[in-house]
Amino acid sequence: MLTVTDLEMRFKDVRAVRGVSFTVRPGETLGLVGESGCGKSTTARAIVRLLEPSAGTIRFDGRDITHLSHRELRPLRRDLQMIFQDPHSSLNPRQTVGQIIANPLVVQGVPGVKAKVGELLDMVGLIPEHAGRYPHEFSGGQAQRIGIARALATRPKLVIADEPVSALDVSVQAQIVNLLEELQRELGLTYIFIAHDLSVVRRVSDRVAVMYLGRIVETGAGDALYDGPAHPYTRALLSAVPVPDPKVERTRERIVLRGDPPSPAAPPPGCSFHPRCPRAEELCRAERPLLRVHRGREVACHFPL
Ligand code: SF4
Ligand code: MG
Repeated sequence: MLTVTDLEMRFKDVRAVRGVSFTVRPGETLGLVGESGCGKSTTARAIVRLLEPSAGTIRFDGRDITHLSHRELRPLRRDLQMIFQDPHSSLNPRQTVGQIIANPLVVQGVPGVKAKVGELLDMVGLIPEHAGRYPHEFSGGQAQRIGIARALATRPKLVIADEPVSALDVSVQAQIVNLLEELQRELGLTYIFIAHDLSVVRRVSDRVAVMYLGRIVETGAGDALYDGPAHPYTRALLSAVPVPDPKVERTRERIVLRGDPPSPAAPPPGCSFHPRCPRAEELCRAERPLLRVHRGREVACHFPL
């Protein structure tokens, strides 16, 4: 459904995304994971063309969409939608919920908008009467339901959810994740699910791609990657996820990463992870590891686990 090849995103001197390639198959969920600033949101925004790619290609549904103009993009917006992290700031406060959800339908010239808005509200667990209210009258979880209804209004094929539950109370997160999963089954949706929280991504993803400083460092089937991460960074990220079983929690290894991620404006030479990596050797400082197959997944590391 989607093939991203050697995507580059440059802002002045900063290479926020540095040669990212991946595919998404119809009906699957690809989890995109990494610390804030690793380029995952920028990648998402490039795919839906809210940002113009600096280099590389994006093929969606058999078509090269990398450099389509605004006019050429319009019919495509129907099939390619995005759910944002902060539901309130992504909803226009001066529009009613009904108007917000109707916008993409009106742009696409879809008839019977009013009835469709009612159906969409019902589909995300709200009621048709909510159409006349304003976003500020809703809780974060409800506002995200409105964002989901808007994203699904045109029955897209691919939905990119950029940290859709990160801004919500923990108690509400599971409800929204469940809703997204239900809707995927009902409507046959394909998802890219972006998060920094590995526990959320594990639940929803068939495959996972881990990003670090603008590059993918490991990608593979969700379970395999969680049960035996091969990249030291994936391993460190995983070790930060709490385990529900207190016995396991007490005995397991916790890897604390040294320091913050380096600035994308000045990525370290060789393997960008080397200043924080417990396995780093001389080779890591000198030579950048390329993604290659290792234990059934792809890993960019000279000394994978
Ligand atoms: Fe660590 Fe070296 Fe692998 Fe980079 S290449 S992750 S520094 S072991
Ligand atoms: Mg982000």
